Amino acid sequence: VTAYDVAVIGGGTAGISAAVAARSRGATVALVEREPRLGGDCTFFGCVPSKALIEVARVVHDASRAAEAGLVDRRPTPSFAAIAAGVQDLVETIAADERDERFASAGIDVLHGRASFEAPQRAVVDGRPLAASRFVIATGTVATIPPIEGIREAGYLTNETIFELRELPTRLLVLGGGPTGVELAQAFRRLGSEVALVEELDRLIPGWDEAASAAVETALVAEGVEVLTGVTAHRASRSSRGIVVEHDRGSIAADALLVAAGRQADVRGLGLERAGIPLRDGFVPIDDRCRTPVEHVFAAGDVTGGRLFTHVAAHEGKVAGLNAAGKGATLDERVVPEVVFTDPEVARVGMSESKARAQLGDVSVVSFPMARVDRARIGRRPDGFVTLVTAPRPLLRRLGGGRLVGATVVGDRAGELIHECALAIQTRAFAGRLAQMIHAYPTMSLAVQQTAAQLFPLGRLLAESGEQRNRT
Ligand SMILES: Cc1cc2nc3c(=O)[nH]c(=O)nc-3n(C[C@H](O)[C@H](O)[C@H](O)COP(=O)(O)OP(=O)(O)OC[C@H]3O[C@@H](n4cnc5c(N)ncnc54)[C@H](O)[C@@H]3O)c2cc1C
Repeated sequence: VTAYDVAVIGGGTAGISAAVAARSRGATVALVEREPRLGGDCTFFGCVPSKALIEVARVVHDASRAAEAGLVDRRPTPSFAAIAAGVQDLVETIAADERDERFASAGIDVLHGRASFEAPQRAVVDGRPLAASRFVIATGTVATIPPIEGIREAGYLTNETIFELRELPTRLLVLGGGPTGVELAQAFRRLGSEVALVEELDRLIPGWDEAASAAVETALVAEGVEVLTGVTAHRASRSSRGIVVEHDRGSIAADALLVAAGRQADVRGLGLERAGIPLRDGFVPIDDRCRTPVEHVFAAGDVTGGRLFTHVAAHEGKVAGLNAAGKGATLDERVVPEVVFTDPEVARVGMSESKARAQLGDVSVVSFPMARVDRARIGRRPDGFVTLVTAPRPLLRRLGGGRLVGATVVGDRAGELIHECALAIQTRAFAGRLAQMIHAYPTMSLAVQQTAAQLFPLGRLLAESGEQRNRT
C-alpha cells in the first residue's frame, strides 16, 4: 500500500485547494472523491448552476420589462428545457477545468470512491486501504431536511436535484429564506413559475442587516413571489392538488417543493468516530490552522461550518493543505465578502452596524441611495444603497474618516462593488480614501465614493441639501 504524506477526503473546492497546496510543498498527495468527477457542490449543485440560471432569469426579466416599457414588441417565451440545457453546458465547461488529468499531471493521485476512517491513521476507499501520515477532511455539506411530517413521502427537491429539472414547475414552493432560497425563488419566478417562499424566522436572509432583508423582500414581492416569514411548515402530503404543505397560517399547494432550509456536515459513513474526531454543533471543529482535535487530521470547507462559501472553502483548503504538508499557515478570515445573488444583489463585508456598535461602541454609519447614482438610473436599476460603518483609529481618532470596519451594498452588481470596501478594510486604509480617489463616471462604484464623502462636512452638507450627486 502506498503511504501518502497527505490524503485529502473530498474533491470539492476545499479538497482541491488542499491537495494543490500540499503538493506545492512537495508532499505526496492522494485526493479522494466519491463522485465520478471532481468539483463538488460549487461546480455541480451550487454556485455555478445557480448563478447560470439566475443570469438567464435576469435576461428574461429584462426583456419582459423592456416589452412592458414598449421598448421591444414582444415578451420573451423562454424554453425551460433549453435554459436547463444551457446551464448544464456551463457546468460542463467549468467542470472541465477540474478534470482529474489536470491534477494527475501535477503529481496528485486522484482516487474515486467513498473514503472512510478505520482508525486514526488508516482509511479505506471503497474497501481498498489508504494509508497517509496526515489527512484533510473536506467532505462538504448536504441539505438539512426539516422535521416536517410526511415530507419524504410527499417528495422534495434540494440543490442536488433542482438543476436536473427539464420542465418548469408551474407552482414552486421554496422552504427557507436564506441565500439559496431567495436566489432560486426569484430566478424561477422570473422564468415563469408561481413561487411561494416560507421562512421560519421573521425576515428573509436572517442574519443580514435589516435593510438588506427588507430590500430582498421588496424585490421578491414586487415580482410576484408570495413571501411568508415567521411561518413554520408542519406537514406535507401529496394529493390531487399536488404537494400540499400545511403551515401556521394555512396551506400551500405546489408542483415542486424545494428544500433550502440549512446545511449539515456530510460525514455519512466517514467513520469520524473511528478517527476519534467529535463533531461540535454538528460540524468538524478546527483551530486557526485547520487542525481537528486529532493531531494529524485537518479539515477545511463547509464541513467545518461557519461561513459556507466557496471562497472560504478555498482559503481553508489552502491553509489545511499547507499545514498538512508541514508548513505553518494560519487562517485569516477577518475580511470575507459575502454576496446574495438576487436582483438587486446584496453584499457585505466586515462588521454589521449592530456588531460594530456592540464591539467598538463609537462608530459612524453613513448611507447613500442608489437612486441618486446616475449609473443606476441609466440602467433603470435604482434600488439599493451603500452603507459604510467606520470607527475611530487608536491615536488619530476620526482623522481621514477613521477606518472602515464594515460595508453593506445593495444594488446592481453589489457583489463587484463590495470588493473596493473589502480592500479598504483589509489594508486598514483611511475611510476617506474612498471619497478622495477619483471614481469613473458613470459607474455603480461612484455610490461607494458618495457614501464615503458623507464622512466629511462638505459631503454631509451636500447630501442633506439633496445636492449630492455622483458628479459633484
Ligand atoms: C444552491 C447553492 C448555491 C451556492 N452558491 C454559492 C455562491 O454563489 N458563492 C459561494 O461562494 N458559495 C456558494 N455556495 C456554497 C458552496 O457551494 C460551498 O461553500 C462549497 O461548495 C464548499 O466546498 P467544499 O469543498 O467544502 O464542499 P463540497 O463542494 O460539498 O465538496 C465536498 C466533496 O466531498 C465529497 N465527499 C463527501 N464525502 C466523501 C467521502 N466519504 N469520500 C469521498 N468523497 C466524499 C463530495 O462528493 C463532494 O464532492 C452555494 C451552495 C448552494 C447549495
